[in-house]
Formats: sequence, structure tokens, C-alpha cells
Amino acid sequence: MKTSAAAGAYAVLGAPWGVAAEKEQAWFDRPMRWAQLVLVENDPGRFDPDFWLDYFKRVHADGACLSAGGAVAYYPTEIPLHHRSAWLGDSDPFGYLVRGCFAMNMAVIARTDPHATWDNTFEAHPNWIAVDSKGQKRRHWSNPELWVTCAMGPYNFDFMTQVHEEIMKLYQLDGIFSNRWAGHGTCYCEHCVENFKSFAGMDLPRTSNREDPAYHKYAGWRIERLRELWFLWDRTIRKVKSTSRYIPNGFPDNVVTGALSDIFFTDHQARSGVIPPWSNGKRAKELRATMGMKPLGGIFSIGLEEPYRWKDSVQTEAEIRIWVAEGTANNMRPWFVKFSGTIYDRRWLNVVEKIYQWHYTNERYLRNVAPLARAAMVYSEQTERLYGGQPWQEQSSGHELGMYHALIEARVPFEMVNDRLLDAEHLKPFKLLVLPNVAALSESQCEQLRQYVRGGGSLVATFETSLYDEEGKPRSDFGLADVFGVSYGGGVEGPMKNSYLRLKPDADSGRFHPVLEGLNDAYRIVNGIWRLQVKPQTNFPSPVTLIPSYPDLPMEHVYPRRPDTDIRELYLRELGQGRVAYIPWDIDRTFWRIMTADHGVLLRNIVNWVANEKPPVQVTGPGILDVTVWRQAKSMTVHLVNLTNPMMMKGPFREFIPVGEQHVRIRIPQNTKIERVHLLASDKACPYRIEGDTVELTAPSVLDHEVIALDFHA
Ligand SMILES: [Zn+2]
Repeated sequence: MKTSAAAGAYAVLGAPWGVAAEKEQAWFDRPMRWAQLVLVENDPGRFDPDFWLDYFKRVHADGACLSAGGAVAYYPTEIPLHHRSAWLGDSDPFGYLVRGCFAMNMAVIARTDPHATWDNTFEAHPNWIAVDSKGQKRRHWSNPELWVTCAMGPYNFDFMTQVHEEIMKLYQLDGIFSNRWAGHGTCYCEHCVENFKSFAGMDLPRTSNREDPAYHKYAGWRIERLRELWFLWDRTIRKVKSTSRYIPNGFPDNVVTGALSDIFFTDHQARSGVIPPWSNGKRAKELRATMGMKPLGGIFSIGLEEPYRWKDSVQTEAEIRIWVAEGTANNMRPWFVKFSGTIYDRRWLNVVEKIYQWHYTNERYLRNVAPLARAAMVYSEQTERLYGGQPWQEQSSGHELGMYHALIEARVPFEMVNDRLLDAEHLKPFKLLVLPNVAALSESQCEQLRQYVRGGGSLVATFETSLYDEEGKPRSDFGLADVFGVSYGGGVEGPMKNSYLRLKPDADSGRFHPVLEGLNDAYRIVNGIWRLQVKPQTNFPSPVTLIPSYPDLPMEHVYPRRPDTDIRELYLRELGQGRVAYIPWDIDRTFWRIMTADHGVLLRNIVNWVANEKPPVQVTGPGILDVTVWRQAKSMTVHLVNLTNPMMMKGPFREFIPVGEQHVRIRIPQNTKIERVHLLASDKACPYRIEGDTVELTAPSVLDHEVIALDFHA
């Protein structure tokens, strides 16, 4: 069987996912369910802290994040200019909540918010206030009583350091989490001007034009400065309690985030505008690519998350549940956030309670050790930053989003890989890498991908992948030309109208290539919007060729001028154990814009052909499901998140639409035997059949989120 080599690779678990399994469990690994209560200034004396402590208990929250200080202090601070809540009096609501949580054995971290301050601070230290590009001190955009602080100067480095030290000394917390700590746009205060000048030898940029060398330098300086601040605050609080950690809310570089954090939280609270619910899972995958299996909390809003900022609103039950399900299926630990201790609309309380109670009951199946996905999609922060400017490069995020959506529809469990972590150790778990127009790649990144293919790995790449270096400068040929077997021809065509792809069987055998499965009856399908002219360096099969654009008006003239060409629009190669597919047009971005089913089918088939091994899990049945697969210490799980809903592409969900029977085939990891299979949402045993290394079963229905749990023999 062809799976033997692959099975060897499949058995390699834990790398790079190895967490400190043998170390004593640190506090940050313990909490599985977080509760965040963000107090408002007039809460002290009005809100009922015991109600909240009781709620935390009911939902089995084992971690809490509570408002302490910054813009408003909720404890009797002694630091000059640290503004005590005007309603505080002699009380200490923060301390009361902290003691209550510690008594329930919860981990407790303080929330601070340094981004805004008051007139008295402005008067005492005008140089602590952010300055706009016209040289004006910045009033707060939402609240004109307040000032915006400079994140990179003494307000954060001196004043907030004292605040963090005081909070730690008084309450001996597990950590501090700061919201809005990293600034709001470029600050032109005296400190920023001077510090940037000594770093870069130039003035602060006046634009956010990516061609501007000052802007380029500024992005690097900002990351350095914020990293310094993170170190300073972490060092400060660890001096008070060595196990504590400083946790920033967001950091502008995922690789740095992964390296510096022992625990992190994503602040992607809910959908807004036109995004599918899988966006929450995507954020988890991006961070897992750099953090490995270190604990990641998924902050979710119980309200609407739109630009109009209805912070006291409550979202529908179905929308809250699908968002959290996407996070849980992707190994995020749920973290609800409630603004204001006084509740106006109580509808969310039962929703979160049900989600958390289910989570608590099934906790051992949610403590994942490693994902078992064999496919990974590469994402590139440098491409995002440095690529663009040409007409065919507009809306370039569509490449990644379209590919992501195609993999979801294809029900392929997959991880994401950061392009700066393409070393052998990080790529070891994967048989297949997908590169959706990963345009900016250095020579050494290309070499890492070359080695990966040499070692038996497979690649799917689209459009301008590797046609630019790590600085975003164009190359004369693809950095990966030898891997693709294709060179750049020097031209880009588009936006194309009325262009097609000719699908044809092999001239000798008369058989259709497997990448055309399900499309055999189609003489042709629609093309994308932009295509690169390329030159093949070797022989390729020709299952997909170009039908050039022809007039789309007047209707009398709409007939193909060249019904067939020998210009391939898909290049398929076998290189040892590996397979490579290069697609010289924007299939992924076109899929994101147009959602043509044929493009989805073609991408699914290409991914399956390139993988060239039995997948870890196959799920067949109606609907759109996000499928993820995990290993725990003594079990494995397959998550099925049901995204089938008229509100899938634009929330909120009104209700769930259950999907019918799903037939599931799961590959059992090497050296394990299955003892029991059950469905965690339905809460019942599931009949199953074992055939060789595969478990077969049927999940009768999925409402929102079903988890198939397979217990291993001891
Ligand atoms: Zn500044």
C-alpha cells in the first residue's frame, strides 16, 4: 500500500507541537474557561460582585480577567495621577473579586488599559500625551473629557510600570493583561520623534505608503519598542511573583508573539461585515503556527461587534455558539468578555452557561496534545506588508481567504504555517503545503521549501508565489521555478473577461486526470480574473488549458475565437514521493470573489491529488462543515462544526439548520487501539466498524458542533 511511508510520518506526533508535558503544570496551562469582567467607572457601589462570583462558579470558569487600573482604578491606588473611580469611595471592588476568585481556586489576571488619561495628567505631564501629524495633542476620539496617551513614551514605560508593580504587590496575581497598550496610529510627540531619529536616522513617516523607506523603518521600530515594553512589564511583575506573566492584548508580529508568550489571548471577538464564522478558527491556526500548543484564549463578545460600537448589546444565541464552536474546534479556550458589571440584557447568561458547562463536562477531550492534520496553508506577514501596488495585486488577501474557504468546503483538516518558520521541524507533521500567492519569499525560504519537497513533501502554489524577495522586490523568475518546473514569462494578463479553461482527457489513454473528477462532463469551466504568462521548462500533462478571452458583446459576436490552445493553466508534477501543483492564475482570489463551485471542486481535487495519501479523516454528507482532528493524552477527537446556514457569509445566525447523516472515516494513529467511540454533543455512544487502520461510523446529524471522541486502550 502506498500509505506505508506516509504512515511513518503520521506517527510523528508532538513535533513541533511538543509542550512541556513532563514539566509540572504551570498556572497558565490550567484554566480552560475564562471569564472577563470589564468594569465601568460607575460600577463600584452599584454592581453586585457576588452575582459575578456566583456566575463564574456556575459556568465552571477557572480563569478570570478583572479590571484593575489604567484609565480608571478600581482599587485604592496610591500612585499619583492614577485616577480612582469617582464612585470608589473606600471600597475595593477589584480586591473583593480577586479574593473571591482565588477562593474558588481560579487563576486571576488583572486587566489594565493605558490608552486614555485625564486633564490633570495632561497638565502635569503634557509630554505623556500622543501628538497627531499636525503637532496637536490628541483628545480622545470617543470621549472628549480624556486624552490619548503616547504608547511608546514615559506614560507607558514609567507611569504604567509603577501601576503594574503596585497591582502585583497588593494582589499577588497570576498575570496582567493590557488592553489598547500599543498606540493608535503614529505618534509625533517629542519622545517618539527623538527615539525614532536615533533608531533610524530619519524623521517619522508622514504617510503609510509602503514604498516610503521611513514607513518601512517605522514598522520595525514599533515592533522593537513594543517588545521592549512587553519585556519591561513582564520583568516588573515577575520580580513581585516569579510565576506571573505579562500578556499584551495583541502584538504586531506573530513570530515574536509565539516566541515570547507562555499564554496568549486573541481579541477577535465576533463577526462584523462580511466574514464567515471560520474566521475565528483561522485566527487560532495563525497563532498556533507560531505558539505551538501553548494555551490560547479566544476572547468572544456576547454582543454585536460592529463599527457602531454597541458595547452593551447582546448577540443571538446561535451566533455566539457558532463563533465559540469555531474557536473550540481549533483549540482555543473560550473567554467571554462582558463590559459593565451592571447587566441591561440578561439573554446571554444562559447561552454562555450552557456552552461552558458542556466544555467543563468534556474537558478531557478538549485538552489537545497535537493536531493530526496533514495539510497546512502557508501565510506570510511579509507578503501582507510588502506586496502590492499593481492592479493585479489588488485585494490580495482574497488569495488566502479563498483558499481557506475552499479547504473548508473540501472538508480538509489543515493547519497554518508561518512563512518565517519553514524549517524541517515545523514542517515535519505535514505531507502537503498550500501557498496561496505567497509572493514575497527569501532565497533561504525558497530553499527550505525545496528541501521539503526533496524530503517527500508536496506543494500547491498559486499566481505570483515566490516571484518577489523578502523585501518585496520583484525577481526575474520565480524563486521556486525549479520546483514548479515553470518560469515566469514576463507578462500579466487581466482583468480577463469571458475567458475559460478547457478540460480534456489525456490524449493517449483517453482518461481524465483525477484533478478533473466530477468535472468530466464539463467541456470547459470559467477562468480566473488575472493570469501570469509562464514558460514550462519540462513536459507536463495538459488536463486544463486556456481558452483566451473573446468579445462578450454584441451577443452576435460572442463565440470563441480560439476554442482550444496548448497553453496550460495547471502544472502538475511528481517529484519522488512529493507532488507539486502550480496554478499560474488567481484561482483562490477569484473563488473568494465569485465562489464558482467549479473552482472549489478543482481546488479540492488538486489538494487531494497532491497529498497522495489517505487523509486523516474523511467526512461525507450534506452541508458545509469545518472538520478538525486532534489527539489528546488517551484519546483522539474529530470536530464537525456545522456552518450550513443562510447567514454563513454574513451574520448573525438566527438559528441552526441541522445537517443529516455524516459518514466518517478516521485513520487511527499507529500503535493505538480504539476502546470506545462516542458523540460528545449528542452525549451518546456511537456504533463503529474498524477496517485496517480506519474507524468507520455515521454521525446521525450535526446541529452546531459535534465532537466524535475515540478513546484509546490503556
Ligand atoms: Zn509619542
